[in-house]
Amino acid sequence: MFKINEIYPTILGESLYTGYPFIIVRFTGCPLRCSWCDTQYAYYEGNDYSLAGVMDEIAKFKYFNVLLTGGEPLAQNNLEKLIDQLLHKKYQIVVETSGALPVSGLAEKVHLVMDYKLPSSGMENKMMLKQNLNYLKTSDEIKFPVADKKDFNRAIEIIEESKLLDKVKIAVSPVMGKIDFSALAELILSSKMNIRLNLQIHKIIWPEISRGR
Ligand code: SF4
Repeated sequence: MFKINEIYPTILGESLYTGYPFIIVRFTGCPLRCSWCDTQYAYYEGNDYSLAGVMDEIAKFKYFNVLLTGGEPLAQNNLEKLIDQLLHKKYQIVVETSGALPVSGLAEKVHLVMDYKLPSSGMENKMMLKQNLNYLKTSDEIKFPVADKKDFNRAIEIIEESKLLDKVKIAVSPVMGKIDFSALAELILSSKMNIRLNLQIHKIIWPEISRGR
C-alpha cells in the first residue's frame, strides 16, 4: 500500500521539465522538517492506495508524464514497484527527493531531482550528498532551495567542493517569501557559474491556489 496526499494534473512548475503537462503524485510523510516547508499538509494527511489503485488514478488523466513527490516519495515502501509499472506503461517519470535518503536503485530508471537542504532549512546535517552522488546521472538535477545570501554562499561552496558541475545539472530555487527572484538572479550572475534559476512557475501561474495546481 501507498499513502498518498493528492494526485492531480498540472503544468509542471519546477525542474528541467518545467512547463510540460504532468500528473503529480504527492506521497504522505517526510522524515525532515524544513523550517520553510510549503507542503506541511502532506506530513500526515492522505489516503491508502494499492499499486493498482494508484495506476488507475494516474491513467484517468491521460497524460504522458508523472512526478513522484511529497512529502518524501523515497520513504514509501515499494516505490520501485510503482516506478516499474509506470515504465512498463511508457510514462516519463520525474522523482523529487529531499537528499536525505539513498537514491540507489532508482537513478537509472527515472529523472531525479535531488534537493540539497541549506542552513536556513535546519536540515543540512541530514543530507546524503556524497553517497548519492555515486548514483546520479549527468542528466539528473541537484536543486538548492535558497532563502538568503548565506544559503547561496553555502551552495557555491558545496558545488565547488564536490565538483558538482561536472557531475549533474545544478539549479538554485528561491524559497518563496524569503528571497526575491531578482536578488537570487543577481547572485547567480555574480557567481559566474553555469547554474539554473529554478522558479516554481505553478505559483506564478496560479498565485491564489496553494494545493492541487
Ligand atoms: S523535505 Fe520537502 S516535504 Fe520534507 S520537510 Fe523539507 S520541504 Fe517539506
